[in-house]
This record gives sequence, structure tokens and C-alpha cells, in this order.
Amino acid sequence: MIARTLPAIDRDNEAYWTWGREGKLAIHRCASCEYFVHPPVPFCPRCESRDVAPQAVSGRGRVVTFTINHKPWVPDLVDPYVLALVAIAEQDDVRLACNIVECAPEAVDFDMEVEVVFEQAEDLWIPLFRPVTA
Ligand SMILES: [Zn+2]
Repeated sequence: MIARTLPAIDRDNEAYWTWGREGKLAIHRCASCEYFVHPPVPFCPRCESRDVAPQAVSGRGRVVTFTINHKPWVPDLVDPYVLALVAIAEQDDVRLACNIVECAPEAVDFDMEVEVVFEQAEDLWIPLFRPVTA
């Protein structure tokens, strides 16, 4: 487990950090033009609608880019670990900053297919991604 500084929760990002309790990855989506909006804000940057709400997505995606951290920035940090940008399967410009888990850091690669898993931290469920094996 990676030592984490937990995010401050507000009305906009609550679904992203808590729907993992039900095994769901929540991404805001515009009801007018169907554009996914991330980081979550209450308006659509494409059509300017305010009819935007969290929606469960498949949890599948691909690694766009990544880095392997070897430096123990904070006490209790288990290194090395992988920090990545994952594009969700539904929309390639939704990029989630996350960790890749359940595989050796050197096994992570560009365009690797991944799926979401959640790690509970207090009352939050942190979205992480692991390689798709099936
Ligand atoms: Zn829109």
C-alpha cells in the first residue's frame, strides 16, 4: 500500500472518491452533449451546459504515460511505485492521474490495457488501475 495524502472532498469530486464503495468509477458527464468532464466540475467545457452529473463508466482504460517513482518523498512510502495517466475507454481525453498496481513497475508499458480497482482509505475509495489479464 502506498502512503497517501487524501484529497479534500467537495460537492463536485465526492462521487469520484466514494463510488468505489459500490465498485463504480464515477466520471462527470454532460447530459446535453454526452461529453465526459474530468476533473469534475459542474459545467461542460464543450457546450457550456450546467446539466452535468457523475455517471458510472466501465472502469477500463489504457496507460497514456507513466513514471516509476524511486524516491521516498514521505515517511512510510513504499517504493518503487508507478504514477500514471490513464485514459478511460469511453473518452480518450479523460486522463486520470493514478497508480498502477498488482504488477511489477517494470512491467508497465505505454498503451497497456488496465482496469480500475479501489483501495479504501478512511471513508474514501481511491481509484487505482491494474493490468487487464482476461
Ligand atoms: Zn456538454
